Amino acid sequence: MTYTARSIIWIIVYLLFILLPLFALLLGSLPPARDFWTEFSAAVGYSALAIMGLQFGLTARFRFVTEPWGEDVIYHFHRQISLFAVALALVHPAIMLVVQPHLLALPQYGEVPLGAVSAFLSVIALVVLVVTALWRARLKISYELWHYSHIALALVAVAGALVHMVGWSFYLTDSLKWALWVGLTIFWIALLFYIRIVKPLFLLRRPYRVTEIRKERGETVTLVMQPDGHDGFRFKPGQFGWLTVWGNPFKITAHPFSFSSSAQTADGTVAMSIRNLGDFTSGISNVPVGKRIYLDGPYGAFTIGDPADMHVLIAGGVGITPMMSMIRTLADVGDKRPVMLLYGSKDWDSITFREELEDLKVRLDLTIVHVLSDPSADWAGERGFISADLLARHLTRPYADHEYFICGPGPMMDAVEKALADLGVPMSKYHSERYSFV
Ligand SMILES: Cc1cc2nc3c(=O)[nH]c(=O)nc-3n(C[C@H](O)[C@H](O)[C@H](O)COP(=O)(O)OP(=O)(O)OC[C@H]3O[C@@H](n4cnc5c(N)ncnc54)[C@H](O)[C@@H]3O)c2cc1C
Repeated sequence: MTYTARSIIWIIVYLLFILLPLFALLLGSLPPARDFWTEFSAAVGYSALAIMGLQFGLTARFRFVTEPWGEDVIYHFHRQISLFAVALALVHPAIMLVVQPHLLALPQYGEVPLGAVSAFLSVIALVVLVVTALWRARLKISYELWHYSHIALALVAVAGALVHMVGWSFYLTDSLKWALWVGLTIFWIALLFYIRIVKPLFLLRRPYRVTEIRKERGETVTLVMQPDGHDGFRFKPGQFGWLTVWGNPFKITAHPFSFSSSAQTADGTVAMSIRNLGDFTSGISNVPVGKRIYLDGPYGAFTIGDPADMHVLIAGGVGITPMMSMIRTLADVGDKRPVMLLYGSKDWDSITFREELEDLKVRLDLTIVHVLSDPSADWAGERGFISADLLARHLTRPYADHEYFICGPGPMMDAVEKALADLGVPMSKYHSERYSFV
């Protein structure tokens, strides 16, 4: 089945999960009718809960679900739809308090209904969750602490909303509807259980060993890993995996990295090339050979396409890693499609894989254009950044006939995507891999 057909099916399944439980409330025996705004507010509240609950599914890393889009698109959707759900969750009590102002009257101490306390807790958890997700870096919260608290807050928000819903019990008097909504909540929490307990257990039984640590140009280290006691997995060039080096897969310390090795290996060996950019990546060069590590993958939809098209690979800095896997794989299978690599680096010395790329030209129809942002005075090649002019200078017309792959720093990717649009390349002809899920 094509990616388009699969994505349509998953969109329909997603909408059914959100809308069916809502419309199911209108079946069977109904409570006495209330005014329009009260009913509207209840519908908004139920929708908010249905959308929030399904977030556990969006982030459960189900490969068969995320594949048609790629993990980064799913995470961006998770972010946007969460903001929408939180807005709905705030609108629900706001409408209620306007149409039923008596709810604001403070009851006697000890008489506050559980449904109200849990609703309050749920809303507070949601607000903290949004603030910490949007401004994590500004609040100086470490990624790991944020991730743990994100899960805890999401659980409090959903559990609080469930207790509120059952406690108020206006629509859930019918046992079937009660079972549907409580069952749904159990399903959402089971998704979290799967990703945090079942999946790590599976990974624990399928460890890898580090067989080589290789220093590369451009502050990059290649980690070569072999499956330990199992066959490993097969990946498509351009895909990525989650790497756990220190500790076990139960810890929330896995980091995403593209595979840089050829996808054509007989023994499941994989390599990741990691640039020193922060806490975790700076420790990679100290990993001892023989160390047991864990790999969860493969993920992502950023992978080579139609062999009839010329492939234009546009990489900036460490964004070369998925391209390297594509080039190595094409060389290993003897693919003859024309490939052009436009590769932005700081200077000549920091070009990761420079020598190997030159060697690979012999085995492939490969053209390489290096673009240096800070070259020495005698550099005769392209300088600055990859732009529409530079693309037009090196690519043959019609530009829309080629297939483009873009990976690099955010600003570079924005500029290249805009440049391709300016050259009349339709979105269906380019693929982007962003190295940030935020
Ligand atoms: C799909 C994908 C593929 C990638 N492929 C490569 C690659 O091939 N080579 C390469 O060098 N880099 C790659 N990256 C980037 C790499 O994942 C980050 O540079 C690395 O996780 C930063 O960790 P740090 O602790 O060293 O840096 P820090 O400075 O501590 O973190 C920098 C930022 O990275 C993000 N981050 C930190 N920890 C995690 C985590 N556990 N999970 C997700 N994000 C986190 C946070 O937004 C954080 O603010 C890829 C990223 C993605 C999303």
